[in-house]
Amino acid sequence: MFKVVKVRLYPDAQQQLLLAQAFGSCRWLWNYCLNLMNQTYKETGFGLSGYEVKKLIPRLKKEYEWLSLTYSQCLQQVCLNLGIAFNNFFEKRAKYPRFKSKHGKQSIQYPQNVKVADSYLTLPKIGDVSALIHRAVEGKIKTVTVSKNCSNQYFAAILFDDGKEKPNSNTEGKAIGIDLGLTHFAVTSDGSKFDNPRILNKHEKNLKLKQQQLSRKQKGSNNRIKARNKVARVHRKIANCREDFLHKLSRRIVNENQVIVVENLNVKGMMQNHKLAKSIHQVGWGMFCTMLKYKAQMDGKIYQEVDRFFPSSKICHVCLNQVGSLPLDVRFWTCDNCQTRHDRDINASINIKDEGLRILNLSAVVRRADAPEGLTSGTGDKACRPDISRSKGGRKKSTTALSVGQEAHTDLTVQCG
Ligand SMILES: [Zn+2]
Repeated sequence: MFKVVKVRLYPDAQQQLLLAQAFGSCRWLWNYCLNLMNQTYKETGFGLSGYEVKKLIPRLKKEYEWLSLTYSQCLQQVCLNLGIAFNNFFEKRAKYPRFKSKHGKQSIQYPQNVKVADSYLTLPKIGDVSALIHRAVEGKIKTVTVSKNCSNQYFAAILFDDGKEKPNSNTEGKAIGIDLGLTHFAVTSDGSKFDNPRILNKHEKNLKLKQQQLSRKQKGSNNRIKARNKVARVHRKIANCREDFLHKLSRRIVNENQVIVVENLNVKGMMQNHKLAKSIHQVGWGMFCTMLKYKAQMDGKIYQEVDRFFPSSKICHVCLNQVGSLPLDVRFWTCDNCQTRHDRDINASINIKDEGLRILNLSAVVRRADAPEGLTSGTGDKACRPDISRSKGGRKKSTTALSVGQEAHTDLTVQCG
């Protein structure tokens, strides 16, 4: 089974310089190839594959000598990743690949030859970089992605194969339904309510202050850079707090249950409601569901999504009577048919659980009819990396990590011509 451990790196001044050079070369190559692909498509109507642009590297190295300073496999990986980015675009998993900016997060990828020791990582052409390895990396190391964030912290995400089989998942055990919301982050079918931590609100004043200070600094000045780092620090703090909360809650839910059922939320659609967009963005449902999913898969448990059009709030879970309308401000209601008094969210989460179990039973019946044995549950998507041999496990996360820097503003001036 593939696993990823992300560790903090502490490169010295010399290594920071070398890394900056490598980040720059890889970024330049990405932008060069992307531009070339765009041009070729415009002129001929045909695109170029990742492999085709990869073949250009030797020629480019002659023309731009500084490219040879960077480890060649990192450069090759850039081309392959660009190919994957296009594949993801054509298969409607991602947006069109964008030019990478020198501002914001930077990263390079080593497809092999990185060694992990107790307190350092050996990176080709860079040397032994001190690292804080907080978790054992046991198994065959695959890809190592080295990145630097806006507040100049360095990380290495180490992908490795621990050689163990993925545990078979089964439905025998406790099932739980989770209703995600804004007032309570999560309400579970066993009646627990988890408060929404509203982390952004806690830091809003500080963020505003730092942003104000930044806006007063002269453009291009050193003080502006310092102020910008301070803003980045607050953003990082917010993101870290949110992730911490989500990791702890998802870990707890996965540990305590065998089957986890969640509503499949249309986050993008909900974001279009401007009044709610900010709170929906900060609450992090999408990240939470992703965490539940991979944690469940790693532990041989089942993660099931329920269609978002399933009327979970409006059905009485006792007699399945459906009410016509239930305004959002009604927190408690009484079923006309069986006179049960419901807590809106707990009732919804029980319905989500029941619906999830129904779907699972249904697919189990179909599976039994199709193939008597040997099929596991079909919750995980196949990995979407056709031109790189990465077996099952649905590491969709890596495809997003490949387009690191996409969130940064596009810098069109970087392309050459
Ligand atoms: Zn009822």
